[in-house]
Amino acid sequence: MEDADETPAVRLPKAACPLCGRPVDPRYRPFCSRTCADRDLGHWLSGRYRIPTDETPASESDEF
Ligand SMILES: [Zn+2]
Repeated sequence: MEDADETPAVRLPKAACPLCGRPVDPRYRPFCSRTCADRDLGHWLSGRYRIPTDETPASESDEF
């Protein structure tokens, strides 16, 4: 009798996506998917920093 005492995989700590609560994907830690990671990044950036984009807020009052 041979007992294969191999560990199937590295036991990752139970982590859930902070946004949707789904199991975290190691590739997108600490999020479950790129969607959530992207979403959070967007929130984070828009909340803390200003992203330099070509889209400038059209100031309608300036056209007057
Ligand atoms: Zn998620």
